[in-house]
This record gives sequence, C-alpha cells and structure tokens, in this order.
Amino acid sequence: MQEIASGIEKKIKVKRLVTAPGVTFKTCNVCNGSGKVSKVVNTMLGQMVSSTVCHHCNGTGQIIDNKPPGVDSTGLQFKEEIIKINIPSGVGDGMQLSMTGKGNESAGGGISGDLLILIEEKDDDDFKRDGNNVVYDLYINFTDAALGNELEVPTLTGNVKIKIPPGTQGGKIFRLRGKGIKDLNSSVAGDQLIHVNIWTPKKLTTEEEKILSQLKNSKNFKPSPGKSDKGFFEKIRDFMS
Ligand SMILES: [Zn+2]
Ligand SMILES: [Zn+2]
Repeated sequence: MQEIASGIEKKIKVKRLVTAPGVTFKTCNVCNGSGKVSKVVNTMLGQMVSSTVCHHCNGTGQIIDNKPPGVDSTGLQFKEEIIKINIPSGVGDGMQLSMTGKGNESAGGGISGDLLILIEEKDDDDFKRDGNNVVYDLYINFTDAALGNELEVPTLTGNVKIKIPPGTQGGKIFRLRGKGIKDLNSSVAGDQLIHVNIWTPKKLTTEEEKILSQLKNSKNFKPSPGKSDKGFFEKIRDFMS
C-alpha cells in the first residue's frame, strides 16, 4: 500500500528473446533491403505492379549472415535481464503497464515487442483501500473516548498524532486530508479515514467491576443519541460521496 501511495521503482527479472551474440546480418538478397518485393501482374487493363512483403526476410530487409551453432533460424535467444520499472502511484489490482520495446526482439532486427506488467495489489494489514482513500480501523478504550486523548495513528508515510475529543462516539470517522494514495493521473492525493471503534474490556478485575458498577446508573451513562450522532449508514454515505 505504501508503494502504491507514492509510486515506486522496481527491478524485475525478465526472460526475453534477444539477438544471440555472434549473429550477424546481411542485406536480404531478394528485396535488396527494402523489405518489399514488386511483382508485375498481367491484368485485363494491362500490366500492373503490386508490392508485397518480402517473405525471405519477413519485411525486415535483413537476413542472418552468420550464426553460432545452437542458435535457430530466427537468430534469437532467451536472455535473463534485470529491467527497472517505474510503478506510478495510484495503480490498482489488475491494471496493466506496458514498456515499449522491452519485450521480445524480433528476428532480423525489426521492432521489439512491449513488456506488459500486470499489477497485483497485496492486501495491507493496517489499511483498507477505497479508491484513493485508505481506511484505518482505530480501536480506542472507553476512557479515551469519554475523557479525550492524543493518540498516535499510523499513516502510509509514518505515524501522526490525532486528538480524540472528549465524548467521541464509536463509529466516528476522522479524516486526514491528503494522507491517502496519490492519484494515477493527477497529483491529487486521497485521504486517510480513521474509523473509531470503542474497545469494550472483555475481562474485569473485581476492583474495575466495582468502579464501573458505581457508574452504572449515572445519568450521563444513559445512551441518548441526538441528531448529530449519525447512524452507520448515514456516516458511510457522507464519506463515500
Ligand atoms: Zn527481403
Ligand atoms: Zn471500520
């Protein structure tokens, strides 16, 4: 995810067909290097000249002069090469990048093919991706939610501190502007959305139980959601639109 967010240069090993060492070429003696042959055809309207691709050299104008033993008639051989590729930011699963001319060479020194790179995105342990936004699930304890606190939260570019205001509800979403993934076609970056989850203790000591029991009937502890405490679907709608 970090790599996708900012783009990255990667080196990959590629097996591609290249002209084998020791192979030399000479001008095709059939087409004299033009790659085309002209034929005079007799038609009802008289003689016409038609031009077709030279089949001797497949249109390259070159044929193999010398080749070392073990090299076939194409003069090509597989070679392992390290190729540097620049993965731009904002790429996604299933996208295809192409590098012109980095594919197989063609026989007789013609135009090389392209190297096609298929992007597969790895799932991230911390972040979920939604377009160029990344969503982080933050778990805070009940006292931080009630009293407020300053907490450290990971982003794609390192930790940042965020303020949890007193009275923060579970399901609250904080937005860190520009902390998402840089768009593929512009320099605009998405946001990091921090989804607050309130952690309920699964175990309590007798002491803790006693303290909480004392608060049980406190008026402030009675849930009383108001209009500003939006439900789950309203929140999702707000943030995804
Ligand atoms: Zn030819
Ligand atoms: Zn969540």
